[in-house]
Amino acid sequence: MVRVRFAPSPTGYLHVGGLRTALYNYLLAKHEGGQFILRIEDTDRTRLVEGAVESLLESLRWAGLTPDEGAMVGGDKGPYVQSERLPIYHEMSKRLVEQGQAYYCFCTAERLEAMRQERAAKGESTAYDRHCLHLSKEEVERRLAAGEPHVIRLKVPEGRTLTVEDIVRGPVSFDSSLVDDQVLLKTDGFPTYHLAVVVDDHLMEITHVIRGEEWLSSTPKHLLLYEYFGWQPPKYAHVPLIINESGKKLSKRDGDVSVEAYRDKGYLPEALLNFLCLLGWNPGDEREFFTLEGLVEAFSLERVRKSGAVFDFGKLLYINGLHMRAHTPQELADMALPFFDRLGRPRPQRDYLVRVVELLAERANLLTDYVTEAPYLYEAPTTYEEATVKKRWKAASAELLEAWSAILEGLSDFSPEALEESLRQLAQERGVGAGQLIHPARLALSGVGNGPSLFHMMEVLGKEECLRRLRRALEVLPRG
Ligand code: GLU
Repeated sequence: MVRVRFAPSPTGYLHVGGLRTALYNYLLAKHEGGQFILRIEDTDRTRLVEGAVESLLESLRWAGLTPDEGAMVGGDKGPYVQSERLPIYHEMSKRLVEQGQAYYCFCTAERLEAMRQERAAKGESTAYDRHCLHLSKEEVERRLAAGEPHVIRLKVPEGRTLTVEDIVRGPVSFDSSLVDDQVLLKTDGFPTYHLAVVVDDHLMEITHVIRGEEWLSSTPKHLLLYEYFGWQPPKYAHVPLIINESGKKLSKRDGDVSVEAYRDKGYLPEALLNFLCLLGWNPGDEREFFTLEGLVEAFSLERVRKSGAVFDFGKLLYINGLHMRAHTPQELADMALPFFDRLGRPRPQRDYLVRVVELLAERANLLTDYVTEAPYLYEAPTTYEEATVKKRWKAASAELLEAWSAILEGLSDFSPEALEESLRQLAQERGVGAGQLIHPARLALSGVGNGPSLFHMMEVLGKEECLRRLRRALEVLPRG
């Protein structure tokens, strides 16, 4: 039975890289008929951010990556929030001390700092100098009894090679002499990530640890802990960093990095997942469009690549467009409606919005495009783009549009076909190109020079509204 976990620390919003890690875990679990577990790693009390757990959960919920077990969901291997598991970590760290594989350390922060500076100045490693490794049992007891602040440190053996058999990278070896005597239990009584992650992955029966590449260098410490406890380590897969165009880790400076930002911009969750999955993984063929079910079917850890994956904003937009076009106009309208509230615009009637969606079908790549791309579909223009007036509003335009308006008034069929037919006929009678009518008409109706098909747009606006807008434009725009 495959059991995987997503183990975020509540230090802020969910980063797109975090969502991709969650996704890879989810996909492996679902592909193998296993379980996807959510654990909250909140042992670093200095980095906690108020509301972060709620925000992480909301982003996961939005993305549709529902845990089978874990924080807020429950399960029989809980609690799934590390701050609620302190007695377990205390017991486990004591066990290591008794086995001689960990030791109490009473060094103060000042001593450690001075030691580091001194060693750094000599060009030596700034790892802990094992000052407390050889304290006598009696001295330790006495200092503990006196209530001296202390930590528990991992005793790392010298001269061993610790090899991580990574599914993505193959074997990666570390020289144990370069591994620090890691703090396992801190002065505040909380475990460090390293102790907690190993204890929990074991007790929660995690079979595969899929996490970001930044944790690879911690893995030898974890392997040592598994060995000391006499436990079987899980399989590891360290997934590549998401990077920017210049090969650096993707950061806020490059654009949005929080999942919430993409939600608020009108991306569909399945599109973001599709895009993120392809960052660092490929199906082995040319396919690019995947639903979540499709990803579950196609996914394998073996096809995750080693090197960093560049976050291509244009590609994300393109994939979002593909996913939007896989929905019906009704579905899209329902998804788009809340964005009117969010962007502070009045909600249109749903039926009307469905027609707008159809009209913008090929042009919209974001749900917010229905709100912001063509405001004139909801409100008559009050101004006319200056450059377009200059370019498109000719001496004869007013008179031509006036003539067409008169014809439109008598039209009973306001279909795009009928509209086009009447326009072309008038153009022919006057001996002008159709463009002499089309461009000024668009300007008069929308106030701008570009947009969806004029005749389809007119059908959506309706006859009365079109005539009203044409009248007003003819009052405002110059005559020949
Ligand atoms: N809590 C760690 C993080 O925030 C999880 C690392 C792991 O998956 O082992 O990324």
